[in-house]
Amino acid sequence: MDVYLGKGLGAIREANKNSTSMLSLKAGEATEIRIIQPLDELISVYEHTEKMNGRWMNIRCLGKENCPLCKAGKYASFRTYVPVFDFKDERVKIFKASKTVGVTLVGLAEEYGDLTKRNFKILRQGEGLQTVYQFFPRDPSDFDTTDLEIPDIEPLIEPMSPEEIENLINQKVTDVTPIEPDDEDTFPF
Ligand SMILES: [Zn+2]
Repeated sequence: MDVYLGKGLGAIREANKNSTSMLSLKAGEATEIRIIQPLDELISVYEHTEKMNGRWMNIRCLGKENCPLCKAGKYASFRTYVPVFDFKDERVKIFKASKTVGVTLVGLAEEYGDLTKRNFKILRQGEGLQTVYQFFPRDPSDFDTTDLEIPDIEPLIEPMSPEEIENLINQKVTDVTPIEPDDEDTFPF
């Protein structure tokens, strides 16, 4: 049978995650964005990015004591979920910021004040661990966010139980049709 069969709550959450667009830039690509949520309201979590059954998944870290991935020696990354309006596609997306980008944003806020008051050109340079995001502030300008829906971040960061994570780790590839990570949105870097 060549039919995708997602099991349990994890599959539902995965499907839900995929309906939220992530801001995804290739090396050398730029776009203009407006951050639509103040920095002090942004949600940050530690999460693991692991390839499970041939596709990249982000899995919330449950903390060293409880987390099967930590126990397996996997590394969790600090990620801040930044809702942005992407002017290139003219829609709201989530920009997942690394700790380094978070520090950059805090620095920009110290210099420019409320980051929701102006657009930024964001330029990605490099791949993988060498990835650097540069932010170029534009002049302050009005931007009407009343008709924009800020994506619900909760389903994206809802933790799985240790058992669910263990099941994922133990799942044999034959249980689920492998999905190649050809969708940019599912690719973590
Ligand atoms: Zn962990």
